[in-house]
Amino acid sequence: MFATVGIDQPIEKIMDDWDYLDEKIVKKFTTWQETGQNIIGIRRRTITLKEIVDPKKGTFNSVTMTPDGLLSKQHKAMKIHITPGGVPHRVEHSLGFWHINDMDELYLPIPARPGEEFGHFVVLMQTPTGDDRESYAQYCQKCLTMLYEYPYLSGRFGLAGIWRAEEEAVRSYNADPKHRHCPECGHVNPLGYCWNVAKDSPEQAEARLLW
Ligand SMILES: [Zn+2]
Repeated sequence: MFATVGIDQPIEKIMDDWDYLDEKIVKKFTTWQETGQNIIGIRRRTITLKEIVDPKKGTFNSVTMTPDGLLSKQHKAMKIHITPGGVPHRVEHSLGFWHINDMDELYLPIPARPGEEFGHFVVLMQTPTGDDRESYAQYCQKCLTMLYEYPYLSGRFGLAGIWRAEEEAVRSYNADPKHRHCPECGHVNPLGYCWNVAKDSPEQAEARLLW
């Protein structure tokens, strides 16, 4: 990990300096960082044994789609959670689509150190290779019919393209109102939106509040 991320000071000078580590290293993982065989993301959040709160987006409610229905709020401090490959999952008010990843995703929320407000929410997955892919999908909120799916060949094109793919997935879904109209039950679904709130149009910001 350190070989990939790179630090410009001798390790013995900084290994006990958590502030330095936060400032210089954790920041690089704010989105995703490829470290050889793994991809790691680290986000700073309020993390307790009861819940996780994102400083910008509020209570962190992750939802997974399973044969038994929708499961939610599975993340708690020090509880390792795995979303297996192929399982659609999203986070309310944070991901305005369902993420379907060939790779298993492992989550470990670590509470704040004494005196600090935010803990470290660690996400880890194997680096996709070959034909591995992920997609950004939309399902009807009423009946869970799949409405739209935008694939990204993560094994071939790597991490570098995921944010552009996410943006394009949201843009192309939103571009045609027919996509949001469920062919099975007739429900008209809200617009999609990206992970990064800075990318919200006024209409997407409204949709983010809805779901
Ligand atoms: Zn429907």
